[in-house]
Amino acid sequence: MSSSFSQGPTLIHGSSQVGRLNSPSHEFTNPPVFLYTLRMRRWLVSLAFLCVSGWSADAVAWGCEGHRAVVMIAERLVPAAKLAAARALLAASPVDPNLRVGCPPVPDDPVAEAATWADDYRSDHLETFNWHFTNLPRVWKSATANPAAACAAGSCAIEAIVAQFQLLTHSADTAVKANALRFILHFVGDLHQPLHSTSNGDRGGNCVPVTFFGQAPQQNPNSDDYSPNLHGIWDSSMIRRMMTDQALADAQALSDHIVAKKPLPASVVASAPTKARVTSWARQAHEVGRTVAYGKLPVAVGMEPATAIILSSCQDNHDIVHRMLALNESIGNAYLAAGEPAIAGQLRLAGVHLASVLKAAFPL
Ligand SMILES: [Zn+2]
Repeated sequence: MSSSFSQGPTLIHGSSQVGRLNSPSHEFTNPPVFLYTLRMRRWLVSLAFLCVSGWSADAVAWGCEGHRAVVMIAERLVPAAKLAAARALLAASPVDPNLRVGCPPVPDDPVAEAATWADDYRSDHLETFNWHFTNLPRVWKSATANPAAACAAGSCAIEAIVAQFQLLTHSADTAVKANALRFILHFVGDLHQPLHSTSNGDRGGNCVPVTFFGQAPQQNPNSDDYSPNLHGIWDSSMIRRMMTDQALADAQALSDHIVAKKPLPASVVASAPTKARVTSWARQAHEVGRTVAYGKLPVAVGMEPATAIILSSCQDNHDIVHRMLALNESIGNAYLAAGEPAIAGQLRLAGVHLASVLKAAFPL
C-alpha cells in the first residue's frame, strides 16, 4: 500500500490526516484513560483516511515499530535521570497539535513516541527532506566511502545528526532543543537503515520494484515508482514479517526480542556524535547495504554509476525503475533469512549508538 519515497524529492504526504490531540501536561504524567482512548481513536481515524488516500505508515523509514524499538533499546542504557530530562524537554515544548501523524501514540513512552515525529514534520518542511538519508553510492567501498559527495550542501543524515546535537546542547530556545532531540531520536535510526546509507542510482532502492512473498509490484498512482520496492521492504515489510513470525505484538516486544538474541553491553560511554563518528556509522550501514540488501538479491543487480546520487524521478538514470522491474526480483524466505538478522543487528546498533548520544546530551 505504500506509495512513498523515503529518499528523493517526491512528496510523500497524504492530505487527509487529522491532527492529534497533544496535551503535554497530561501526556507525560499518567494521563487519564479517556485521553488515551481519544488519542488512539483520532489516530485510527487518521489511519483510515491514509488507507483511503493510498498513503500509509510505510512512509515512515524503519516503520513505526523499528524507530520506536531503537529508542526502547537505547532507554535500557540511559540512566533514569537523563531519560527524565529528555521527557521533561519534550513536555516543555509539545509538537504542533495540528501535525498530521503516521504512527499510533505510545502513551507510556513519550521519548519512543517522539522517534517518528521527524517523518511527520518532513511532510510540511521539505527543507528537512534530505536529512533522513545519506546516499553513499553502492559502488564505493565502505571503508573509504567519503560522504562529502553524497551530502550536497551539507544536507544529509550525517550532517543533520551533528547539527541537531549542537542545537540540543547549545541552544537557549526550548522549542529548538526539543525538536533537536526529536530529530536525533529519528535520524540515528534512519542512518542505520542500510538503504538510508546506500544507493545504487535508485534512490536507496525506492526505484527497485520487487515481488514480496507473492505480492507483485504495482505502479503507484500519479507516480513512476512501484510498491512493493526494495527500500520499502527494508523500511517496514521485513520488520513486520519478522514481528508476525515471532509473534511480537509491538515495538516493545520487538526490542525485547532483539536484545534477547544478542544482549546489550552492560553500559555505554557518553559520546557526542562528531562527524567522524557518525560517518563511521554510515559506512557500517553502507556495508550492510552493499553485502546484504543488494548483495543477497535473488537476481544480481549491476553497479550503477556513483554520479547517480540524486534523481528527480525513478525514470532518471536511464529509466532505472523499468530496468529494475525487468529483473523480476522476487523476495521470499531465502532473502528474508539474510535480511532479518541484518535488520535486528542494525536496530540494536542504532539503539546502542543513540544511548551514547543521549548520555552525552544530558550530562546530569
Ligand atoms: Zn526518516
